[in-house]
Amino acid sequence: MVQYDVLVVGGGTSGMMAAISAAENGAKKIALVEKNKILGRKLLVTGGGRCNVTNNRDKEEIIAHIPGNGRFLYSAFYQYDNYDIMNFFRSHGIALKEEDHGRMFPTTDKSRTIVNALSAILEKNNVALYTDAPVENILIEDNAAVGVLLKNGQELHADRVILSTGGRAMPRTGSTGDGYKWAKKAGHTLSPLYPTEVPIESNEEFIQNRTLQGLSLRDVRLSVLNKKGKEVIAHQMDMIFTHFGISGPAVLRCSMFVHTTMKKDNTDTVTMRLDAVPDQNKQELEQSIRSSMKSDGEKSIKNALKQLVPERYLLFGLNKNQLSEDMPLKQLTQNQIQALVHYLKDFQFQANGTLPIEKAFVTGGGVNTKEVNPKTMESKKTNHLYFTGEILDYNGYTGGYNITGAFITGRIAGMHAAESLLNKA
Ligand SMILES: Cc1cc2nc3c(=O)[nH]c(=O)nc-3n(C[C@H](O)[C@H](O)[C@H](O)COP(=O)(O)OP(=O)(O)OC[C@H]3O[C@@H](n4cnc5c(N)ncnc54)[C@H](O)[C@@H]3O)c2cc1C
Repeated sequence: MVQYDVLVVGGGTSGMMAAISAAENGAKKIALVEKNKILGRKLLVTGGGRCNVTNNRDKEEIIAHIPGNGRFLYSAFYQYDNYDIMNFFRSHGIALKEEDHGRMFPTTDKSRTIVNALSAILEKNNVALYTDAPVENILIEDNAAVGVLLKNGQELHADRVILSTGGRAMPRTGSTGDGYKWAKKAGHTLSPLYPTEVPIESNEEFIQNRTLQGLSLRDVRLSVLNKKGKEVIAHQMDMIFTHFGISGPAVLRCSMFVHTTMKKDNTDTVTMRLDAVPDQNKQELEQSIRSSMKSDGEKSIKNALKQLVPERYLLFGLNKNQLSEDMPLKQLTQNQIQALVHYLKDFQFQANGTLPIEKAFVTGGGVNTKEVNPKTMESKKTNHLYFTGEILDYNGYTGGYNITGAFITGRIAGMHAAESLLNKA
């Protein structure tokens, strides 16, 4: 029988870090069990294949960018934070660089650099690697995790078991949600799973007719409204219209709130609001149209106003308001000006949900964080069992926040699993 001190299930972002952390904190015999032939398949595809390894913002800001239960991570962050992640890689010879919005990448611009570095550190620490080794079940005896059963029938036993099997987003990377049923078996409840950081779908006619398909809008303000018309969230970033709805950074960030708002309001659609000219308020915009009417009144509406928004978006609005694009700007009536301002600042349409979880970057929901000790990541339901990463019910925006959460929870679980063994000895 093979007996380990610490056994980690899942050789992804958080699992690799958990195994390294267990070794660096004194555990002697560690195993990392991964169902793929290689480690870190999901990490390899992050950041467009460049690995957005963490973010260079302070704790509070990082947690604010983890809108799904980020507060659960406070205690972990006070033990190990994003600066520790950067120091960890730099101390292992990996140079990092900062890009827009604090995003950190290896200077090689290759995820492979990060996965290779983690693999080398695992090897240096003599972590036993089981790859191409899907776990079938976890073994629990007398209310304590004692190991795993592999699909090939082999049992691996351990004093501490860490579940790092990820969520259900992009299952081709190996994260097919296997860990959830073991969490349930260990007595945990799950918050319902839903896709986040995912494009939004809409059945609106202009989407179905592909009127705006392919049109990108830069630095616009996109909001999700609840059924009372109150803004639930807004993000000012880029977006694009697609054949099924909308996508792009502002959309991905709003996607979680499409789900939470529909659930809270008990509806199957949600209102989105698009402000295409966010740097001017309605009065300022009206004023600037009026000034153009004086200076450029002979010009057609299309030519006079196309500096405000892309021409296609403007034409769509003119059409909606039955305005001819060739009409001279000076002929606009007060009502027509107000209708245009309304369209540019407050265009509302219905969303019908998002693409499915398989197409999402991140999984919302998961193992109920109230049932996990935030200081150690240890289960409150089953002894000697720990959780890390996306299997837990927290989720962040893309931009390095999920990877940071995965590395940090992995670090903390590995550390406390090892320390609890040393304390026992
Ligand atoms: C395309 C894409 C881009 C992304 N970009 C970013 C980004 O830029 N910034 C950011 O912060 N986040 C990003 N993310 C999210 C981020 O990658 C994840 O949140 C993070 O990797 C989760 O880490 P994890 O350890 O929880 O799970 P994973 O990294 O998914 O690891 C789980 C591992 O467990 C293994 N496993 C599952 N079941 C079993 C089993 N039965 N037996 C053995 N092994 C098993 C899987 O094969 C997998 O290797 C992106 C995600 C995707 C899909």
